[in-house]
This record gives sequence, structure tokens and C-alpha cells, in this order.
Amino acid sequence: MRPIQMVDLKQQYLKIKPEVDAAIHAVLDSVAFINGKAVQDFAASLANYLGSKHVIPCANGTDALQIAMMALDLQPGDEVITPSFTYIATTEVVALLRLKPVFVDVDPKTFCMDPAALEKAITPKTKAIVPVHLYGQAANMEAIMAIANKHAIPVIEDNAQAIGSDFYFSDGAVKKTGTIGTIGCTSFFPSKNLGCYGDGGAICTNDDELAARIRMIANHGQSKRYYHDLVGCNSRLDSIQAAVLNVKLPLLDSYIEARRKAADFYDKAFANHPRITVPYRDQNNKHVFHQYTLVLEGVDRDGLNQYLADKQVPSMIYYPVPAHRQQMFESYGGSEFNLPTTDWLTERVISLPMHTELDEEQLNYIVGNVLEYIK
Ligand SMILES: *Cc1c(COP(=O)(O)O)cnc(C)c1O
Repeated sequence: MRPIQMVDLKQQYLKIKPEVDAAIHAVLDSVAFINGKAVQDFAASLANYLGSKHVIPCANGTDALQIAMMALDLQPGDEVITPSFTYIATTEVVALLRLKPVFVDVDPKTFCMDPAALEKAITPKTKAIVPVHLYGQAANMEAIMAIANKHAIPVIEDNAQAIGSDFYFSDGAVKKTGTIGTIGCTSFFPSKNLGCYGDGGAICTNDDELAARIRMIANHGQSKRYYHDLVGCNSRLDSIQAAVLNVKLPLLDSYIEARRKAADFYDKAFANHPRITVPYRDQNNKHVFHQYTLVLEGVDRDGLNQYLADKQVPSMIYYPVPAHRQQMFESYGGSEFNLPTTDWLTERVISLPMHTELDEEQLNYIVGNVLEYIK
């Protein structure tokens, strides 16, 4: 059996090595390392794939979120509503920009922003809402957009874990996650569903004016070279990363199917176990399984983690400390937020290996060992 990893980037690379190597060499030959043709081609292809009018590539997913908030011209002290049950980047940029993070609880089934909690958290100071499509499952964007539109508050989707997912609206409309809110942000960190071989990110929007601002902010606020209209930053996707992404974007849907197949295998094996809850699949979206995350009840989770490690099966806790309990947010009153579902999940979730290269032998071995521990 091949060794089991949380994410098997090597095996995936070997299948596309000739194409990737050729694409990287083409950039080397062109020496157009910054904003070369590969970057422009990728932005156009991703816009086409997502059905988004504008895609602005940037250096990473964290920058994407920061630039999105800068583009909305938020002012110090403005409130930004985000879940606490997310990767730190979502909430960190709020504080970095001297905005006020307002943490809300998540739905216990989807692990994503609870629309009812969102509605309660809105004040006259709320200037942005940032739902996160956690683990590859979309937040309830229909409910969130209804609330946001009612209060005329912009929505920034953190789509770092769900690129390629579809959201199905009750009127039959289908949209890609990241294209539903005012701005969508994503990451091409190597382990993400569409990963490059370094850092990368992108921002998308259908709003022409916002797109122009985002483009400027990501490039030192320049409207034309050496004329700086806004305070911006330097956040670029480099041509070599774009070249890798140009090879991988056409494969994204097949990568998602491979993840969903592995998830189906896990689901079947753990179905109806009294102490294991498999990931919920909300009918309003296509789960793209960035992570496969179980909720355990009455199980020594650290014991399981160690037991699996001893059997060469990696497992991870995403995330061991929710944002509102991080020391970073102590001075923001983080621990004063009452988020029972977030705390409950934090103590019970465990993620199993999930990637495009898992075979049945590996899946059988993983499942067998989990069920050996949780009899
Ligand atoms: C990975 C991730 C980010 C940040 O992306 P980077 O490219 O690592 O900066 C933001 N939000 C979520 C939910 C993520 O998973």
C-alpha cells in the first residue's frame, strides 16, 4: 500500500508532470515572470469557469480577503461579521485593517455561518459580512444574501476551501460559490482543491467599479504606472504559479469528483455509527470536500488521533482553537462572544485524509483503523 497522507501532492503531480514541467519551462523561456501571458490566460480561464465577470489574481488567499475589504473602503471600527469556526486568515485581516471582528456561530450541521445568528449580529456599524464555505460545503448563501440585501451590506465570500462548488437557489438558479456575494476570495495554496506549487490567490466580482479598485489596490493603488491614486499593496500571482494553474484548472472538476468518491466511501463505512456523524450534505450546494470531517460523540479524540498515527494514518483537527478564543483576539473581546456550537464542534471534529489520489486499499485501511478504535 502507498503511504497515506492528508494530501498527496506528489502522486497528483506525477500524473500531470509532463504538462506542468512544460508550462513552467515556457515561463522560464519567456522570462515574463511577473504578469506574463500565463497570468492573463489564467485570469480569463478562471472567470470563464466561475461565470464571473472579473477575476483579479493576487499573491494568496489572505491577501485576497484583505484587498476585498480595502476595496469596500471600510473605516476603522466598522464591524465585519465572520464565523469564528474558520481558518485564522478570515478574521485576522479584519483586525489587521483595524476593523472590528464580530464573531457569529455556525450551523451545527453545515459548520458554516448560521443565518439566524448573522441577522441578530447586524448593527448600524456592520459594513461587511464574510461567510466561509468551510471544508468545501457552501454556507447558506440564499439566506445570507437575503439578509445582506435587506440591510444593504456587502458580502465577501471566503471561497478558499470550496472553489468549484455550485450553489442551487430555490428558484432553480445555479451559481458557483465565490460569485454569489459582492466579492469572492479564493486561495491556491498547494493543498487547496485547486492548488498551485507555491502561494496564490484570486478575487472575483461582477461589479466593474469594484473590480477596477481591486486591480489598483493589488498593484500599489496605481491607475497608470507611477500614478498612485489609492493606498494599496503589492499582491501578485506570479507567472510560474499561473502556468501550473493553467494545467490544473481544466482538471478541477475531475479532482472534485475524486474527492466526492472518497467521501462516499467514508460515508458508507461510517453510516449509522452511534458515535460518528459523517459530513452533512446540504441539498442546496455541491460539497467539494476540501476536508472530510467527522463529528465524534463520546470518543477520546486525542486517543484516536494517536492510534491512527501509530498505524501511519494521519488525521487533523481543523481547527483546535476557534478564532474568538485565540490570544490574537483577546483585546477585541473575543472570549466574550458566546458561540456554543463553535465550541462544541471544536471539541469534537476530526478530519481524515482527503485528496484526489486515495485508492480503495488506502480507504479500507483508514476506515478499518478508525472503526477498530471506535468500536
Ligand atoms: C487557506 C485559507 C485562507 C487563506 O489562504 P492563503 O492562500 O493560505 O493565504 C483563507 N480562508 C480559508 C477558509 C482558508 O482555508
